[in-house]
Amino acid sequence: MQRTSRRGFLMSAAVAGAAFGLDGPLEIVSSAKAASDADPLNKGFAKFKVGDWSVTTIYDGVWEKAHDPGFIKNATVDETKAALSAAGLTDGFVPITFTITVVERDGKTIMFDSGTGGGQAGGPKAGMLAKRNMAAAGIDPAKISTIVVTHFHPDHIFGLMEKDTNAQTYPNAEIIVPAAEYEFWTDPGVIAKLPPGFQGLAKRIQATMPTWKNIRRIGNDVEATAGIRAVNTNGHTAGHTSYELESGGNKLIVTGDLTNIAPLFVRNPGWHAVFDQDTQKAEQVRRQLFDRAIKEDAVLTGYHWGMPGAAKIKKDGKGYALLPVAVG
Ligand SMILES: [Zn+2]
Repeated sequence: MQRTSRRGFLMSAAVAGAAFGLDGPLEIVSSAKAASDADPLNKGFAKFKVGDWSVTTIYDGVWEKAHDPGFIKNATVDETKAALSAAGLTDGFVPITFTITVVERDGKTIMFDSGTGGGQAGGPKAGMLAKRNMAAAGIDPAKISTIVVTHFHPDHIFGLMEKDTNAQTYPNAEIIVPAAEYEFWTDPGVIAKLPPGFQGLAKRIQATMPTWKNIRRIGNDVEATAGIRAVNTNGHTAGHTSYELESGGNKLIVTGDLTNIAPLFVRNPGWHAVFDQDTQKAEQVRRQLFDRAIKEDAVLTGYHWGMPGAAKIKKDGKGYALLPVAVG
């Protein structure tokens, strides 16, 4: 597989650094570091431990989203650009990155969400999970025993199905989904109620998931699978769910889309991205979970936080800041 171009890497590394450097000087990559395979973004994955769980975060690429006055309901494009610049990023577009969390223990490999499906969502720079980085991380797709889904937006579920045929990508894995999310998207009446941009998604979900034999629906705040608890963070979507696991007094919470990219939405938890279906609820559960994570000293992973995609969190003025975990 082709190596990431140096220019592409530098840009992406700046994105990654900025996503985490909110409470201090940004770690803009040096040319020496850029050349290092030890850098988690250059490798395309990062590994760390939470008690006896082995955790791998895997980079699936970036959507260079054009600015749009409708993107954040209560912030202007100028405010958005200023927040990106303050984090050391280009303000030419909004860099929406994708990072998938995989955990392993007791011979089980459990993946949270499934990526963009080789770029079926997220544009030409998305799709690295399938094209390169899952293999680079040493994760064999055939050995994934369970896929736990946070919600049904395209960048989270298109990795479950092939581009042209809709055939299942992981026919032998158990796929665990929030029941509220499943019921929302598979209701035939929902299509007419959705904005036009989401109608195709609902149709694709309705054409696929009800035919899958390996899908299991779970309720709010239940054990999703051994050692992994569902946490109700409905708001971003009707059934958006985060997942929590604990070992040896250490806690990991896979937050999914509790926020979007950190320099905008961790920094400004009151900013309402257009992707949030119920903005008030989304903000409420975001603040609640962040405040709890601070109290409990939990490590969080965020789907749109770039690499390494895993951090502890702290209060920072009116918002929050991420403290990235040490990774191998
Ligand atoms: Zn997302």
